[in-house]
Amino acid sequence: MLKQRIFWHDTVDMPSDKDLPPLPDRVGVAVIGSGFTGLAAARTLAQRGTRVAVLEAETIGWGASSRNGGMALTGLKLPMQTVIKKYGRGLAKRLFQCSLDSIDTVEQIVRDEKIDCGFARTGHLLAANKPKHFDALKDEAEFMAKEFNHNVRLVPPGEMQSEIGSDAYHGALVDEVSGGLNPAQFVAGLARAAENAGATLHARARVTRLTRGEKRFVVETERGTLEAESVLVATAGYTGPTTKSLQKKIIPIGSFIIATEKLPDDLARELSPKNRMIFDYKHYLNYFRLWDGRMIFGGRAAFFPENENTIARSAEILRREMVTVYPQLHDAKVEYVWGGTLDFAFDMMTHVGEDAGMFYSLGYAGHGVAMGAYLGETVAEAMLAGNIREHPFAQINFPGAPLGLYDGRPWFLPFAGAWHKILDWVE
Ligand SMILES: Cc1cc2nc3c(=O)[nH]c(=O)nc-3n(C[C@H](O)[C@H](O)[C@H](O)COP(=O)(O)OP(=O)(O)OC[C@H]3O[C@@H](n4cnc5c(N)ncnc54)[C@H](O)[C@@H]3O)c2cc1C
Repeated sequence: MLKQRIFWHDTVDMPSDKDLPPLPDRVGVAVIGSGFTGLAAARTLAQRGTRVAVLEAETIGWGASSRNGGMALTGLKLPMQTVIKKYGRGLAKRLFQCSLDSIDTVEQIVRDEKIDCGFARTGHLLAANKPKHFDALKDEAEFMAKEFNHNVRLVPPGEMQSEIGSDAYHGALVDEVSGGLNPAQFVAGLARAAENAGATLHARARVTRLTRGEKRFVVETERGTLEAESVLVATAGYTGPTTKSLQKKIIPIGSFIIATEKLPDDLARELSPKNRMIFDYKHYLNYFRLWDGRMIFGGRAAFFPENENTIARSAEILRREMVTVYPQLHDAKVEYVWGGTLDFAFDMMTHVGEDAGMFYSLGYAGHGVAMGAYLGETVAEAMLAGNIREHPFAQINFPGAPLGLYDGRPWFLPFAGAWHKILDWVE
């Protein structure tokens, strides 16, 4: 039976909203949003002695952090060649290093906090949908070795069976540094770690108004008001009108995932012999991996954020895509489908910074599993040190919409979706 339910949530006890602790009157930092970013920041702040409250509109870990593909990837959304062109060699190198450090950060947190989330450096496989994509991957491998001293391995078309049980691709690139985990188990573990460090977590406490007073922020929530010396906005694709200036810079985009029934061991091994985190080269890309014998297969099946309709439609589209890649799964039952919202900035880069005491870390563009934890931690450190401006991700201008044609309601998504489909067809 197909359930509209997040598969990962059936693998762990997510933090409940049964006993809601009262809000404190006053804190050092109020963190808005309880995903990887907010919880990692809260853990670091509390460990350093700051009084911190995490305010979450829904339940703890409810957002993208417990719904994603669980791929902890090297690099940024934009190819590093583009990043060098836009921001120069020096900054590009620092940003790429952040992406490597982000996976180390996840590994370290998982070890220190004993989080049972299956984290493993299984590597990622970027598969070419067309022969000319493989030429581009060759260039990329050479470029990454030369410019970043980062070695990735090419898999020629004739050797793909060692990496993936599919004839759909024309070669691939393997990066052994990337890893995978169960995102709901990771976010639930982070929540426990933040609490153990002394942070208080408040589910069902949507922030409805943020006012800057003389010395402190007045933070109004659905469950009462508190004062905070500073605020960290960690609301990703769910950024709303309470922080309007940020909402206008973030485009929420839906991404959807299906999970099959548990497959026979030999079939699972055939599909992904090395248990890689796999994604393809398209704009409208598919990403997939195994977890506990199930195929977890995601894609941007609809551009609009999740609702009952987009989720139901996505189940069928994703099943079709999955069977195109893996005809062996034609008769496999799809048991789960769910969706979540990604946060894209107009330049497809992640942005951190401060606006008069209001800090933020947003715009992960589908690369927030490792980066969320890393930026949560490093932004918290920068808040304490008072040097957020020196953070590599604070060096980039955070653009708004061209001509200011966006107020937080993404009217252009159908056009963007169609445009990406056209690009996949011609490129
Ligand atoms: C389907 C899907 C697949 C993905 N796959 C991958 C992947 O494989 N690898 C990867 O690196 N990234 C992936 N991502 C992206 C990744 O999940 C996100 O970048 C990351 O989880 C963002 O974490 P966060 O803590 O910043 O935000 P979130 O986890 O989204 O948390 C934000 C929270 O803020 C809360 N909030 C919003 N407004 C308010 C308010 N006013 N008051 C209080 N709370 C509020 C929301 O309720 C939400 O819980 C995927 C995302 C999706 C949706």
